[in-house]
Amino acid sequence: MLYLILLSVPAAVLVWHLTAKFKHHRQQRRRSALQRKPLPDHCQAILQRDFALYRKLPVESRAKLHGHINVFLDEKVFVGCNGMEITERVKLLIAAQACLLILNKPTDYYPGFETILVYPDTFVVSVTERDGMVHSDSVSVRTGESRHRGPIVLAWDQVLHGASDERDGHNVVMHEFAHKLDEENWSMDGLPVLANPQQYAPWKQVLTEAYAQLHRAIEQDSHDVIDDYGATSPAEFFAVVTETFFEKPKQLKHQHPALYEQFRAYYQLDPIQWGEARDL
Ligand SMILES: [Zn+2]
Repeated sequence: MLYLILLSVPAAVLVWHLTAKFKHHRQQRRRSALQRKPLPDHCQAILQRDFALYRKLPVESRAKLHGHINVFLDEKVFVGCNGMEITERVKLLIAAQACLLILNKPTDYYPGFETILVYPDTFVVSVTERDGMVHSDSVSVRTGESRHRGPIVLAWDQVLHGASDERDGHNVVMHEFAHKLDEENWSMDGLPVLANPQQYAPWKQVLTEAYAQLHRAIEQDSHDVIDDYGATSPAEFFAVVTETFFEKPKQLKHQHPALYEQFRAYYQLDPIQWGEARDL
């Protein structure tokens, strides 16, 4: 009997391993077919009309983005809340903004969650804060939320605004999906998975200095291109700098050249090169 059990454990591990390998292989085949599939013209027209950064993308990058959007729409589930109707336009504009972050990165398409909840506008969440033995409950009004290993929650009016205004430095979809990239190594702490081990030391040094610089700017009431909300925590800093990197690239490079370079290497993109020149 013991002999049979000892024999069956390696067999079960082998079956599990082969099943996982088969599933992975099938998923890669499905993804690469979707990546090659053109995005229908009417979908491209929606992006052209409603997504300002899309209009600035080089043509070859647009084609690559279309492929990522196809995979994203195939793998993620959209749920309307508070009467929100999930239309093709809703899905497309969320997918396009989320996929811009992973345009050139090796990606597993935001693993670990699949549901995106969409409210018509700002939504309210209950927040419990703990200070020792004291627990206090309150409500918080939000435009977006990324729940750890759980769904992304978005306010549609803010999704639309983020897509249409590419220069104000605010983009709720990019912000929340940056949090998802950050937690791919399980902890949401402003240190995402980097391409190689040599990148970690300069990443930590540059982001720590820029984070301290933002705190100093707030204390001294001087201007920093990075929104004050980035000073909340290293995780928020990463998400807010991501918004700034895509929406105010020239200003970010001008004020924080080393930080810009870290984000350019991380996203493997250089938004300064996109579209028409932007004013400082
Ligand atoms: Zn955040």
